[in-house]
Amino acid sequence: AQPQAMYATDEYGRPFIIVREQQKKVRSHGVEAIKSHILAARTVANIVKTSLGPRGLDKILISPDGEITVTNDGATILGQMEVDHPIAKLLVQLSKSQDDEIGDGTTGVVVLAGALLEQSEALLDRGIHPTRIADGFERACALAVKHLDGISDRIEFSKTNTSNLLKTAMTSLGSKIVSVAHEKFAQIAVDAVLSVADLTRRDVLFDLIKVDGKVGGSLADTTLIKGVLIDKDMSHPGMPSMVKDARLAILTCPFEPPRPKTKHKLDITSVEEYKKLREYEKAKFADMIKRVKDTGANLVICQWGFDDEANHLLMQNELPAVRWVGGPEIEACICLIAIATNGRIVPRFEDLSADKLGKAGIVREVSFGTTKDRMLVVEECANSRAVTIFIIDEAKRALHDAICVVRNLVVDNRVVYGGGAADISCSIAVSKAADEIPSIEQYAMRAFASALDSVPLALAENSGLPPIETLAEVKSRQVTEGENARLGIDCLSKSDNDMKRQFVYDPLISKRQQYLLATQLVRAVLKIDDVIIAGSDE
Ligand code: ADP
Repeated sequence: AQPQAMYATDEYGRPFIIVREQQKKVRSHGVEAIKSHILAARTVANIVKTSLGPRGLDKILISPDGEITVTNDGATILGQMEVDHPIAKLLVQLSKSQDDEIGDGTTGVVVLAGALLEQSEALLDRGIHPTRIADGFERACALAVKHLDGISDRIEFSKTNTSNLLKTAMTSLGSKIVSVAHEKFAQIAVDAVLSVADLTRRDVLFDLIKVDGKVGGSLADTTLIKGVLIDKDMSHPGMPSMVKDARLAILTCPFEPPRPKTKHKLDITSVEEYKKLREYEKAKFADMIKRVKDTGANLVICQWGFDDEANHLLMQNELPAVRWVGGPEIEACICLIAIATNGRIVPRFEDLSADKLGKAGIVREVSFGTTKDRMLVVEECANSRAVTIFIIDEAKRALHDAICVVRNLVVDNRVVYGGGAADISCSIAVSKAADEIPSIEQYAMRAFASALDSVPLALAENSGLPPIETLAEVKSRQVTEGENARLGIDCLSKSDNDMKRQFVYDPLISKRQQYLLATQLVRAVLKIDDVIIAGSDE
């Protein structure tokens, strides 16, 4: 068969991928259609396969306007690829679902789905009806998910004993781009999650972790701030760059003197009248400043701006202020400040009162690394749980994954062993169960078992190991060493296949979700035998 996708370069040497048109001009139906869908989806799966695992290769993504991203993260690669084929799009969504729900295992889920589709194709060729295949897969998936429970282990940790969490975060970072700063990043991920977690209720207030950053700068600038970062400085250089025992008035209403209503045309005929109007405005604003200060506030956080004159008055009256807080996500930043300082957002100036002020031990201006811009941090907040991580944009994704892994463990501390160990164990279990099934579904179940091997196979291949031999050896050892579900692929050549000793584990919920989502997708593809595009009359 001809290759389905090939790399080519344009006149500037930028690579792109040509995906061969599967459906020619005539629309196909039935099994032919399913097969063409499978081909399209497999093409996408094959692209991310080589980036799986700690030795996975990076991809360079070039956006239409020439921006370059280097990554080996499945969700990022798929998210930026422009795929047109509707079934290939389903695969992109698959990776996104895994990302949304778990935040990790985004490459693995696509590799598994690709393998399941490849297996289905072989079964279709043998004349097995798509519905029977789908049913067999579902049965096998249920079995595998149950088996996962049986081989799972618990990871113990507490607020004071975090070493296991740290090691898990390090493993997650291991396959990502930032290998130089592993320990620091792992520590930040663990600290961030623990400060917003309630360990007894196994609850993580994920939204209280804000990840903020700039393009450029170095990894070493990454910092965890126990509080909120505002990407703004004080509105006037004459204002103090630090406010201790801050009482914050958080305003989402304009903070400026009331303007004359435009409805009534204002006739200013002389300089005197103009001056009088200015005086009036000035007095009004001085009044407003006094009202704010009377509530006890010593810092104003404004969603909107105010003009230079108002700014000057604020400075003169010793009321520091920050304007245009939040930039694009105004709501988010203002909200976070309110939550962290236990303050109330004040949408109408008249409503401002002492009990609505937020409290923070200190608000100060800082600058990070090489970036010249100064920013404000609100620390020692009344509600100490909010944290902000300042990080360069390039490393956000890697840190996100590590944070998710730690979060998942806090919510549910059961894990299965990685490096394909759990997949191999499930593969053995499913294929054993298949032998006892008298109906035609046993073929689909065996096919499912083979598809589970795709993860360890890809891990071995990406690590430069002979895939089939390596898998065969580990599989037979799992069986002969008393169903040892800890043995996986030794990607980092540590001469040890015991993934428990190597601290390579995946959260149980992540692995389970991979199986369920991949199976669900494949079942859907097997049941779609026609794609009708609205508006085309072909
Ligand atoms: P995903 O986006 O699916 O998380 P990754 O590229 O992060 O993909 O790879 C995750 C896979 O690599 C998992 O199957 C995990 O068990 C495996 N893995 C991670 N670190 C190691 C390691 N040190 N040795 C063996 N396997 C590893």
